Amino acid sequence: PPRPIARALLSVSDKTGLVDFARALAAHGVALVSTGGTRKALAEAGLAVTDVAELTGYPEMMDGRVKTLHPAVHGGLLAIRDNAEHRAAMQAHAIPAIDLLVVNLYPFEATLARGASFDDCVENIDIGGPAMIRAASKNHADVTVVVDAADYGEVLAEMAENGGATTPELRRRLAAKAYARTAAYDAAISNWLLAEAGEEAPTFRAVGGVLAEALRYGENPHQSAGFYRTAQTRFGVATAEQLQGKALSYNNLNDTDAAFECVAEFDPAEPAVVIVKHANPCGVAVGDTLLQAYEKALACDPVSAFGGIIAVNRLLDADAARRIVEIFTEVIVAPAASAEAIAILAARKNLRLLVTGGLPDPRAAGLTAKTLAGGLLVQSRDAAVVDDMALKVVTKRAPSAREMADMRFAFRVAKHVKSNAIVYARDGATVGIGAGQMSRVDSARIAARKAEDAARAAGLAESLTRGSVVASDAFFPFADGLDAAIEAGATAVIQPGGSMRDAEVIAAADKADLAMVFTGVRHFRH
Ligand code: 5GP
Repeated sequence: PPRPIARALLSVSDKTGLVDFARALAAHGVALVSTGGTRKALAEAGLAVTDVAELTGYPEMMDGRVKTLHPAVHGGLLAIRDNAEHRAAMQAHAIPAIDLLVVNLYPFEATLARGASFDDCVENIDIGGPAMIRAASKNHADVTVVVDAADYGEVLAEMAENGGATTPELRRRLAAKAYARTAAYDAAISNWLLAEAGEEAPTFRAVGGVLAEALRYGENPHQSAGFYRTAQTRFGVATAEQLQGKALSYNNLNDTDAAFECVAEFDPAEPAVVIVKHANPCGVAVGDTLLQAYEKALACDPVSAFGGIIAVNRLLDADAARRIVEIFTEVIVAPAASAEAIAILAARKNLRLLVTGGLPDPRAAGLTAKTLAGGLLVQSRDAAVVDDMALKVVTKRAPSAREMADMRFAFRVAKHVKSNAIVYARDGATVGIGAGQMSRVDSARIAARKAEDAARAAGLAESLTRGSVVASDAFFPFADGLDAAIEAGATAVIQPGGSMRDAEVIAAADKADLAMVFTGVRHFRH
């Protein structure tokens, strides 16, 4: 028969939900044991609670560095209840069994985040907490461990259902979560010490995250998957609130992130919309309103936009929402949404709406990682922004103000298109995007062909690439990529430059009276 929880040790820095949880435990007849601050909070709420010092026979000492590091505590957490020898040891040394451990750690990450001193950070490295968490988790066959106030309810629900006991399944799940917590905690400490030591190469530990959600499957149904939160970013998809719709899939999360990172490149003073399919933008535009920006973005490639992911860079309003729901969309992500927009989207049950509370800073530091067989590739994120680049006109003709504005726009977008990336843009909207080709000339041709298709579908007399500008994420190794752009009718080009054949490429541009600008910065994205 399941053994009811008889004794709980509670030691928490974050006391959210503590009193209610402890009161419910007491109602189950659970004896409560606590460390200083936690004991005080419980006693003040009128609960009977034993000081852990009574168990250990030692007071808390050394500024709290030593509170629970004692065989009376660790024996009570680690003893195998069905093992006669373990039971005899408990008896011989008067060690009471601890069946439930409730611990959240000294707020190391929060202390670091608020810019505290080195010594303050050191003092916020919890030692006894992780030790107890790891002990209780090892012994999850007998002990329930809770490291997150969000799990209080589930523990109580099981206790109510099972005569004061938890199930082995829950204990195992909580133990797994607990080890993830201590691993992330140590990773944060290690990462900080490395940074303090001036270590520059990002390490694997620096990327380590906490499992936020097990996903139904990965890129394909036969692959398993999970979403790990690394707490690197504010206002990202990782921390967004989902207001409606089914759970996000692996591909949804990947695409939504791609869309939101791209739209965050645009100053929220100017409404911008990004539509993403398969992690590539298939339409990006700025406009006077979000509605106008959406219509311009949609016009770039209305075929691909079906079932897409939409990101906007400001409060999603009703006008835009009304237009968006006219076609099937998987996800919308926005910094916020008006009540009216939310009501409009609610009619589309399958549409997922995420609000992030703000836009991430495209210049922010951070890490990206990808795997290869047996390893991880880690790099700092591409935080380069075209506005910060020293743009150099290399052709005889200098670009007009309109061309210049569109080139900046196109290069901003090209950063978020998989290489080889070619982006045609006109009047603050993409008109043709070529992504992910193995040759740059193919990307240029595909982008132009897609623009022709879109023009035809819209009943226009000529392709929108006529009179457009074009951005290339990396230099043109030969003039042929540029020739394709000239053929499509582009009048100005923005690209990093730096090819051995730059002179040839510039000559081809001059011959066609194109204006060309070098950024000196490459935006490969694979
Ligand atoms: P309280 O607020 O109850 O005084 O302290 C709770 C905090 O102390 C929890 O975050 C818990 O992880 C931590 N803690 C418990 N035992 C020890 C210990 O022996 N050493 C250290 N450094 N922290 C401990």
